[in-house]
Amino acid sequence: YVGPKTPNLAYKLEEFVSLAEVAGFEVVDLITQFGRADTRFYLGPGKAEAVAAKDFDVFIAYHSLTPLQVFNLERLFKRRALDRVLVILMIFEKRAGSIESKLQIELARLRYELPKVKEYLRRAKMGEQLGFMGAGEYIVDAYYRHMVKRISTIRRKLEEVRRSRVMHIAKRKEAGVPEVVITGYTSAGKTTLFNRLVGEDKLVDGKPFATLETYSRSLDLWGKRVVVTDTIGFIDDLPPLLVESFHSTLQEIIDADVILLVVDGSEPREEISRKIETSVATLGEVGISRDRVIPVVNKVDKIGVAEVKNLRGIVGRYFSWFIPVSALTGFGIEALKAVLFFKTPGYQISRTASAE
Ligand code: GDP
Repeated sequence: YVGPKTPNLAYKLEEFVSLAEVAGFEVVDLITQFGRADTRFYLGPGKAEAVAAKDFDVFIAYHSLTPLQVFNLERLFKRRALDRVLVILMIFEKRAGSIESKLQIELARLRYELPKVKEYLRRAKMGEQLGFMGAGEYIVDAYYRHMVKRISTIRRKLEEVRRSRVMHIAKRKEAGVPEVVITGYTSAGKTTLFNRLVGEDKLVDGKPFATLETYSRSLDLWGKRVVVTDTIGFIDDLPPLLVESFHSTLQEIIDADVILLVVDGSEPREEISRKIETSVATLGEVGISRDRVIPVVNKVDKIGVAEVKNLRGIVGRYFSWFIPVSALTGFGIEALKAVLFFKTPGYQISRTASAE
């Protein structure tokens, strides 16, 4: 990590590690370096040599690596060198729900790779060995042309999907099933809460949702059916390349009837406050007002009752109430369900329930 006097450094590193873990990596070492990034190697030359001697499979940089840095690091390490942008992309890819966000993310991946492929191509043309890639100039050239073509195809498809989304939303509203989404920062416990609320195997049976959103499940609240969707949520210092992809994932939140904003109550007060503030602002930017949001303070099993009460002071700056839960132990989940029952529109009773 190269960066002098970064505010909240410890939390940035913690988030960096958890992003890598969510993307499927096992973090074996964390290297910090202060001072300016080396334009050729990202790390200083001495540091890069020291890292090369370590035991690891993949190197991940906090900052975006230039194509030249990736090239040089991979040649030195004889292993893959990635950056945080790619790690977030991998998470988006793994978790994208709607067709629109899938396309948007594929577009970001292509735009991310394009300059790197260009760099290989440039080197190949200069007669340099392509090293471990082992691909001939012709193949890279063909791949490059394929990428450029694919980018324009995706742009066209995105236009179509956006038009059909409007119809999709209208259909869903017609079906009258209330929608609840879970959002919050990475590691707040969104997925744990999702699984706790809906169990794991209840795929939504109403067709329009099932085909489009992978992370939606049906939840029965005393005979009232709602659909719960787990989202990717918020990530600090989002790389500019991924802003559009992030916005397409926000679409899943925009149309929801109720938004559960999950925060990790065991984090320091400043962090909780900062995250709630940023979340509320981000939701506000896309037109979601606070009265559709239910603040959920998770991981209360890790803190004492007094500390939970203290959180009123912090959360109270943005919301007049919150629900303390532990997605891990199940504490507060019934209360949360009761709140969902009353906060979601309509009191329609599902057919199966009324037949019972
Ligand atoms: P997400 O990134 O928001 O989806 O977070 P996850 O659901 O993946 O949870 C992140 C980490 O926090 C995991 O290691 C969970 O086991 C842990 N976790 C989630 N909820 C709780 C909780 O209520 N209490 C405790 N102690 N840990 C939790």
